[in-house]
Amino acid sequence: MSARMLFADERGEIFDHPSLSLMGRLGPSGRPLPDEELIPLPDGTKLFAMPGRYPSGWDPVSSAAVVLDSIAWEGRRVRPQAVCAFLPPGYARTYLPATALGEEHPDLPLWAYAAVGWKEGKFWAAGVRVDETDHWNPEHYDDRDLIPLVRQKRDHSSNRLLEHLERCALHYHCLAAKNLFYGRWECPLPVSPVCNADCAGCLSLQTGGTVPASHERLNFLPTADELVEIAVPHLETAPEAVVSFGQGCEGEPLLQAPLIAEVIRRIRRQTSKGIIHINTNASRPEGVAQLCEAGLGSMRVSLNSCRDDYYHRYYRPRGYELSDVTASLKTASDRGIFTSVNLITFPGFTDQPAELSSLINLIETTRLSMLQWKNLNMDPDLYVDLMGPDWEEPLGIRRAIGEVRRRFPALILGYFNRPKEVVEKKLSGPR
Ligand code: SF4
Repeated sequence: MSARMLFADERGEIFDHPSLSLMGRLGPSGRPLPDEELIPLPDGTKLFAMPGRYPSGWDPVSSAAVVLDSIAWEGRRVRPQAVCAFLPPGYARTYLPATALGEEHPDLPLWAYAAVGWKEGKFWAAGVRVDETDHWNPEHYDDRDLIPLVRQKRDHSSNRLLEHLERCALHYHCLAAKNLFYGRWECPLPVSPVCNADCAGCLSLQTGGTVPASHERLNFLPTADELVEIAVPHLETAPEAVVSFGQGCEGEPLLQAPLIAEVIRRIRRQTSKGIIHINTNASRPEGVAQLCEAGLGSMRVSLNSCRDDYYHRYYRPRGYELSDVTASLKTASDRGIFTSVNLITFPGFTDQPAELSSLINLIETTRLSMLQWKNLNMDPDLYVDLMGPDWEEPLGIRRAIGEVRRRFPALILGYFNRPKEVVEKKLSGPR
């Protein structure tokens, strides 16, 4: 039996429809969603009702899509809302929810909306696991353990960055910030209050003003002392230690390249352990060269598209081009640095043949070490509008991932940044 379509009533209570099957959407177009695309909901998935969006389902009798804009349900008339899933880190969504806009439809906040249905007594979502690392697993994050650890660290310091990261950990539930206080894995080093892009889905600053940013952006420039004071103990003692410049709560770290270079040199005078990493838009190849020379270990570059026009539509860069981004990747690869692309994935866009072939070209020409599949956090209708009217028939996200794997067997595919052991092994093996 095919998965059933879900809908929510005005209070957000969720029901499965008695006859309509689940549909999904790739880019602008809805279609029946094959069962092979569905996985049982992973732990940590959130379900949302989508205000101002009616669900579309597939009627198997008439073989046609049906927009459910009203239903008689349990003795009352219901104006249904579409339902979607937000998958936890480590999973790429493969289909968007199939919806139709109501007369009033507020722009949706910055989450990654995936299709979800009901089958065999449980929820199923359209997604695929892309990373076996389980560092995101909710069982590793219990605020009852965390709060005393935060207090302990903060009581002994007047570091402004620590204060900022306390808010990230306890208020915004940033997993990387939590890791700092737990003393493990990847720890954030936000550094830049400013940016030279204006991404439509930027988590730390929304210039359009129709949806709120998800994080409060860092509002001061930390000193080298403040950064080193956080980084060194983490690198010295944390298992699988990574310290990362470039976070969801800041602007573009490369705009602070001289400061970061000084910090890297000071860290490396004190410890050789762990990886010093940067998440960046890679807009400044000369800044990347400076950081590599100082001792940067790995660099991850975010991209929504490897094609100029579509990159510009989303990033709205100020004073740089996509060619600078690829030059930065080459600069880092040429200096023996582990490079990855954080591919901001959108079902129906990322998996178009032209998009995939430009991605393949980028992997080849930059000698990339890793590709990370990250779901775009943005209202799907806004992104479709932003990308314009020309959409090719997509391959499907699963096939696109399979094609990259087939073309580049040595490329690491995943979701999370990698620790030193993996970085060193990769750099000593085939590229
Ligand atoms: S590059 Fe990063 S910080 Fe800058 S606008 Fe884009 S998402 Fe925001």
